[in-house]
Amino acid sequence: MRSCPTFTAFGRHYCAPPRRLVSLTFTSLHRHNSAPFLNFSLFTAFRSPFSRMEQFQTGTGSTGNKAMVENLKRFGVISSKKVAEVMEALDRGLFVPVGSSAYADTPLPIGYNATISAPHMHATCLQLLEDKLQPGMRALDVGSGTGYLTGCFALMVGAEGRVVGVDHIPQLVDMSIKNVEKSVAGSLLQKGSLSLHVGDGRKGWGEFAPYDAIHVGAAASEIPQALLDQLKPGGRMVIPVGTYFQELKVIDKSEDGSIKARTETSVRYVPLTSRVEQTGGF
Ligand code: SAH
Repeated sequence: MRSCPTFTAFGRHYCAPPRRLVSLTFTSLHRHNSAPFLNFSLFTAFRSPFSRMEQFQTGTGSTGNKAMVENLKRFGVISSKKVAEVMEALDRGLFVPVGSSAYADTPLPIGYNATISAPHMHATCLQLLEDKLQPGMRALDVGSGTGYLTGCFALMVGAEGRVVGVDHIPQLVDMSIKNVEKSVAGSLLQKGSLSLHVGDGRKGWGEFAPYDAIHVGAAASEIPQALLDQLKPGGRMVIPVGTYFQELKVIDKSEDGSIKARTETSVRYVPLTSRVEQTGGF
């Protein structure tokens, strides 16, 4: 018989390896087609519980999106009114490949060995950055993928703010622009307060630096210096750090430029790497 620590959550028994080892279980459990399911919080996954929320595919279009946000609120993942409003306004269904479970709490493959993060992960990052996403502020989204979170940032900071998304896969950037155009964030793209670019996100995006908020949607083996340099004094960066075992780090730069870091949760993200490494050179 297998022996491992067990715990009960939401009426279910889980056989739980030590927290650091949970990723092995979850990664292998959540494989879909050939693409690994990545970009979710291992801790939130149990707290909220992922396996149940995955089933919350209730409705389509804005009804499904609203139900997704309601469930994230119900499970305590979303506590911010503003974050709930923004996630309700931006239909996740417009950002995922046709036919995928847009409103289930799960990451989804988007091609090029990348995934759109799970909704609980987007909500978590939006809440961690909320104070630095006030109207008129500037944000950088590294590894912008589908453009979903970049679009949420743009709705948070509004037309007076500035949001930049950077991804190193040109096809994903093209797709993200089309996704945003179809959404309520489309007018912000048109007006130029939101832009999506092809580039190596490890170098940040100097043009609009410094940023109040920096989000990195792929796991860095170490925090790129360029991103620390482009963070405004008083600003905050949220970045998954690690290779196999990863932690979501919250980095605060104080007004005197000193850096404080803390760990929010254990996560599993695709790596922040070179284009060739990610795609195998195609
Ligand atoms: N946050 C996005 C995508 C997450 S997947 C979403 O939820 O839709 C991680 C993304 O990081 C992928 O799109 C991948 O192409 C990108 N990425 C990985 N390394 C990168 C790098 N060095 N520069 C820019 N983007 C990178």
